[in-house]
Amino acid sequence: MQIECPRCNNPVTVRDRDAGTTYRCGMCGRSFVVPADIARKGRPHQLSTFPVASLVLLHYITAGMFSVIYLNLLHDKMPQLRRSDPSATVAVGLSFVPGLNLIWFFFTYYRLCVRINEQRRFNGLPETAPTTLSAAVALLTLGGALAYVFPAPGLVVLGVLVLIVMPIFAGMVQNSINGLVEGPAVPAVSI
Ligand SMILES: [Zn+2]
Repeated sequence: MQIECPRCNNPVTVRDRDAGTTYRCGMCGRSFVVPADIARKGRPHQLSTFPVASLVLLHYITAGMFSVIYLNLLHDKMPQLRRSDPSATVAVGLSFVPGLNLIWFFFTYYRLCVRINEQRRFNGLPETAPTTLSAAVALLTLGGALAYVFPAPGLVVLGVLVLIVMPIFAGMVQNSINGLVEGPAVPAVSI
């Protein structure tokens, strides 16, 4: 987006991820700090509401596959505020690379929660996306991979993940998004 250089008042083009960093103006050559809130003003998120019950149902019908794809696609619905914020293509792609995905899940779900919470904060809402639970999801996925070597304990861990923890995680993420899109509840005014 374009902002005005506070030194020479010429228009300069900055990216969302330049927010809060020092930027050197190409016109006057002097440096200034890009306002931290340009990302919010520059490009709003494109997250949309989705019924939590439908999400959980689709999760069970597809044995968890829907959640993995759906959650990773959400990365494209928010402005990229850091160089390491992944695109949906990268996020979904790495989720299906055997072995590598076990490490990827630790990053992608955590960052997803951080990005949603950032958007909630920009809108004056409490941070409700489950960052802590994202680590549990990744740990259980790693544990579930044990099923290749130790079928019995591995399948138990996988069961806990797919039947309990993952649907709760996906539901909490969607709940945070629904609250963000719908905005804070406005008390009814009686006349
Ligand atoms: Zn300037």
